[in-house]
Amino acid sequence: MAVTTVREYGLFIGGEVVEPASGDVREVREPATGELLARAAIAGEADIDRAIEAARGALEGEWGKTSGTARARLLHALADAIAANRAELAELEARNVGKAISSVKAELQQAVENFRYYGSAIASIGGRANPIGGSLLFYSLKEPVGVAAQIVPWNYPLMMATWKLAPALAAGCSVVLKPDPQTPLTAIRLAELAAGVGFPSGAINVVPGDGPTTGAYLVRHPGIDKVAFTGSTKTGGEIMRLASDPVKRVTLELGGKSPNLVFADADLASALPSSAWSIFYSAGQSCEARSRLLVEKTVYDDVVSRMDELARAIRVGDPLDSDTHMGSLISSAHRERVHGYVERGAGEGATVVTGGTVPDGSGAFYPPTVVAADSSSLEIAQEEVFGPVVTVIPFEDEKDAIRLANDVRYGLMATVWTGDPARGHRLAARIKSGTVGINMPYTAFPGIPFGGYKQSGFGRELGLETLELYLETKSVILSTGSRPIDPFGLAT
Ligand code: NAD
Repeated sequence: MAVTTVREYGLFIGGEVVEPASGDVREVREPATGELLARAAIAGEADIDRAIEAARGALEGEWGKTSGTARARLLHALADAIAANRAELAELEARNVGKAISSVKAELQQAVENFRYYGSAIASIGGRANPIGGSLLFYSLKEPVGVAAQIVPWNYPLMMATWKLAPALAAGCSVVLKPDPQTPLTAIRLAELAAGVGFPSGAINVVPGDGPTTGAYLVRHPGIDKVAFTGSTKTGGEIMRLASDPVKRVTLELGGKSPNLVFADADLASALPSSAWSIFYSAGQSCEARSRLLVEKTVYDDVVSRMDELARAIRVGDPLDSDTHMGSLISSAHRERVHGYVERGAGEGATVVTGGTVPDGSGAFYPPTVVAADSSSLEIAQEEVFGPVVTVIPFEDEKDAIRLANDVRYGLMATVWTGDPARGHRLAARIKSGTVGINMPYTAFPGIPFGGYKQSGFGRELGLETLELYLETKSVILSTGSRPIDPFGLAT
């Protein structure tokens, strides 16, 4: 089905699409064209109350009684439903975010695999047992944490929703998911698909809403047991504060300024096209975008000129054209922020080699931009630009490369390109980052833990250990002996 007409999207609460209590329905426009795509309901506090009540009811009702094997079947059925509806979902996501449909298709494939992975991983959930000594025995039970509030950003609306939903549902939690109000559409469709394959009412609730008001209310709400957040480091700090009263479990997937190190001995035929891809796919609006390109001095000029050529070869345009490499940014307001970084970078002495100008026209497009900088301390080398802008910085040797790789407050992803395998492993051990890629640019796979060091957050997604973040461990201790237990020795 092609998304050719403007549609109304409600909230998804208690197993059905509902209208927001406040009547707040907003226009959603395509960032690449400015055209109206949909009208979407936006949740307020009364809707959050209702969603949490539905989620609690699900835990105490049918969802709470659903066995692990039945949950596994539901997760696999949802994976099948996403796959069956991938054309509609891909078009909706590409139009809503403005990103190239080729990227969105890969994200959808991962969404499918992610539900399959956690559907299978349910089999690994289990406690353990061991004797304590004497007649005492211990065993543990794994129980869902409860109602999880999940907050996701606009850059990968569907994929981030699936990263969060799949492990929570696998663990048996019920969920109140809050998408960004700019990109609410595919998460609502996902909830509809989940209801269609049999997820009980209230297990999944989707309430798009404004962050500082509705989002903050959700995080503070006493009916929430755990908060899982993906977004900026600044908001992550605020989430920790909000989640402290009453105390809730928190995991944070935050920003990045990921280094991409190219040594002179690297295979540049792979390293450079991959370096272009790892900053320009998704128009650089990726937490793990490799936006700090660190290059050994002896090949620096060559790499800058080849990155210039590669950036110029990126096809920017209609998100729905399968030949497009890069679509638009999420909005004109965001483009202004991105461009501001480039202008200030030039003001601080960096050289804009490619791009760096705001094009005419109605869409929020920004060109692939290559900036050369001598110093790692410039704002454009330190801050998350969250746009198609790579800063290329020279390093002297391996020691200097490690120093520069760690010279940022973030630690989400790093990539090392070298012809020396031992050096690749040495750097993997020394770079403070949740993931290190050696001679390959890809970042996220179901089953491989993904998350941050330093200001990039804590907790891991996509991994087996993610299940633990949605589970409580209950220790049960018992006596198996037949003798009376009399700790004070009071029995006569
Ligand atoms: P953001 O922090 O502004 O918003 C993220 C989400 O939080 C949105 O849903 C927003 O409505 C909500 N929010 C904002 N203020 C809130 C508050 N006070 N209380 C509750 N919720 C609130 O981030 P953004 O600009 O939308 O997203 C981009 C950021 O997300 C970047 O920093 C990027 O690196 C990060 N990100 C990280 C990962 C990861 O896995 N580490 C993945 C994708 C994006």
